[in-house]
Amino acid sequence: MRPFVYQRATDVSSAVQALAAASGNDPLTEAAIQPLAGGTTLIDLMKLDVMRPGAVIDINPLASAWSRIELQDGNLLLGSMARMSDVAENADIQRNYPVIAETLKLAASPQLRNMAALGGNVLQRTRCTYFRDVSYGNCNKRNPGSGCAALDGFNRTHAVLGTSQHCIATYPGDFAQALIALDATVEITGRSGVRNLPFAQLHKPPGDSPQIETALMPGDLISGFTIPGRWPRSGYLKARDRQSYEFALASAAVALDVENGVVRDARVALGGVATTPWRAREAETLLKGERFDDSLAQRAGEAAFAGAEPRQHNAFKITLGKRVLARALQRAAAMEV
Ligand code: SF4
Repeated sequence: MRPFVYQRATDVSSAVQALAAASGNDPLTEAAIQPLAGGTTLIDLMKLDVMRPGAVIDINPLASAWSRIELQDGNLLLGSMARMSDVAENADIQRNYPVIAETLKLAASPQLRNMAALGGNVLQRTRCTYFRDVSYGNCNKRNPGSGCAALDGFNRTHAVLGTSQHCIATYPGDFAQALIALDATVEITGRSGVRNLPFAQLHKPPGDSPQIETALMPGDLISGFTIPGRWPRSGYLKARDRQSYEFALASAAVALDVENGVVRDARVALGGVATTPWRAREAETLLKGERFDDSLAQRAGEAAFAGAEPRQHNAFKITLGKRVLARALQRAAAMEV
């Protein structure tokens, strides 16, 4: 690991000022200054020499202000420094938002869930092998303009939705799928104060600049999330190569409002198959107003993947993703709430 300056923030203002002092916005270079919360992504990537920040600002002193887990006026408020395990094990969340509890429980190992904070979780970097191994020269995300080794390389784990000719890397997280499905907003604290953004606008599709992954600016910190309403009939299904401590090949976060067998409202997001947290609005449109049955669930899967573009090794994700989504919907529809 390369040498770096370690600095511990004393409060929100000192953290923002320290982070805003970065002379560049590229987190892969020595010019960058990175916040350190749980450190479960950052330290890994620094050891791999993928991320090379010249300084790291430890924001753990902000945990007392940014760790809330509260139901308030029909909304769920989560602090960005809340630990994954604390949120997953919260009884109110398990009862009112099973999809959130399940996305967190099915991620990583218990040790990582005890360390990792929600804010860092949604910002985790892709698991693309060519991105994480600096011996590969061609990676537009790590080295803009160098090409994409995955396009004609081994792309079994790569995305089939939201790709560009410059990057097909999969967004690796789970929790973000619950947030985007439930219309969450993200609270950002930065140099000009606090602002709220629809969570759906936080992550940027790769387009022709895959190195720009989010709407965050230098000095910005995610301070919290707001999830409107309650979704007791919801859940997360995740298919992966092994049953634990593995990233999704295909996953689905779903929430349904069903009355007398008819779907009044539906929320659908997909993981493991897209370059960003992916809202499947085509599937939602197809579900709404229809009587739920297995055929409807399967047609929702077809609609969700209608625009999918497979590469040489990842076409199986389309079939798998359709089945995962159909099963997640069937499971949610059958829930006793
Ligand atoms: Fe890099 Fe994206 Fe290509 Fe992977 S898919 S090699 S992250 S440009």
